[in-house]
Amino acid sequence: MNTIETFLKKYYGLNQNVIELAYKAQKDIEPYLKKINLIAEYNQLKVIKAMNDAGLSDYHLTDSTGYGYNDEGRDTIEKIYKSVFKAEDALVRPQIISGTHAIALCLFGVLRPHDELLSVTGTPYDTLKDVIFGKNCSSLADFGIKYSEVDLKDEKPDYEQITSKINRNTRMVLIQRSRGYGLRPSLTPDEIGKLINHIKAIKRDIICMVDNCYGEFVDIKEPIEVGADLCAGSLIKNPGGGIAPTGGYVVGKEKLIKQCSYRLSAPGIGKKCGPSLAVNRLMIQGLFFAPLVVKEALKGAIFTSRFMELAGFRVLPKYEEKRGDIVTAVVFGDKNLLINFCRGIQKAGPVDSHISPEPWDMPGYNHQVIMAGGSFIQGSSIELSVDAPIREPYVAYIQGGINYTHVKLGVMKAFQELLDRNLMNMKKLSP
Ligand SMILES: *Cc1c(COP(=O)(O)O)cnc(C)c1O
Repeated sequence: MNTIETFLKKYYGLNQNVIELAYKAQKDIEPYLKKINLIAEYNQLKVIKAMNDAGLSDYHLTDSTGYGYNDEGRDTIEKIYKSVFKAEDALVRPQIISGTHAIALCLFGVLRPHDELLSVTGTPYDTLKDVIFGKNCSSLADFGIKYSEVDLKDEKPDYEQITSKINRNTRMVLIQRSRGYGLRPSLTPDEIGKLINHIKAIKRDIICMVDNCYGEFVDIKEPIEVGADLCAGSLIKNPGGGIAPTGGYVVGKEKLIKQCSYRLSAPGIGKKCGPSLAVNRLMIQGLFFAPLVVKEALKGAIFTSRFMELAGFRVLPKYEEKRGDIVTAVVFGDKNLLINFCRGIQKAGPVDSHISPEPWDMPGYNHQVIMAGGSFIQGSSIELSVDAPIREPYVAYIQGGINYTHVKLGVMKAFQELLDRNLMNMKKLSP
């Protein structure tokens, strides 16, 4: 232990009391890690079995070019996703460039003019705002697709309002599992299932679509298993295991996946084209690693919650609460604290640790956003990362971490940064 302490002090400038705070946090969270180990073990078995069943073979790990006809590796990856997510079909491609793109495919693939999309978890994730109701940007609204939303009530879905908002045009309901840039809790698969049952009891043929970003492998069930018709996410988040270099996935009903595929490539072409370039091995190896990596990220998230709570900040969720995603929100209430915390995280990143992040106008976001990472894959947020819109109440959304040690180092270093700049004072903390 002493060797570790000496190392942290000598090379990362950590004070004894920061290290002690981390020891305390680590001790407090111990009982909560057991459950996570079990979930990860189950999910690992599920992934291996899916690979066995699909007959994954060495020759599937090679690449294809051009049109990508008969790319058996690509098709096998989709078979494996379909099986892991218990779906009728899957679309898993490097040509899906992000989570936003994957979700947009679902919306544009399925919705038609005069249809209505109803978000039942409040305003959707920031980057989806332009997709859904942007003006003159080829949004759903530009194509005459209507939109309405129901805010959460006491941080939970408002069943009464949802019932009253569903009408004959309501064709799709959007459920966001993760908190996004908000302070509400994430939804667990069981809560999503209950919500879907409620919606389908009102109107059987409503398509229930789940934005599953940051949710994959956090639980033993995924949204399709609790009744979702479509579910989408990013491969540089949980299911890519920190190895997939890009990509997104959509899983769900066969008919709907076909529609999404026509939107991704072109009508008539659908899933049959799309070269995997050189990423088949990385995508599939990433999926193999994903349960393990999500486990490390979750351990890190629980540590972060407890450490930052002990350091005097409001955190969501608390370390003892059940999680539906890998994100921890820390409320800083002050721009300077927030920015310097992000800079501290960056200092412990494996890549670009010498670079200091600045708030910038990111495409798709309406506020300036600061992002700290130092990741191997650009913008990857299954790797330890913090993003924060520069707006009140100055909340940092911390997620990812390929390994627990890195998360602990990052959080300790970030807090040390606040002490070194006299933005925080250890003496003010209750013992
Ligand atoms: C990250 C995220 C998205 C968008 O994914 P990108 O890959 O950043 O485009 C959408 N919804 C939620 C809840 C997310 O966390």
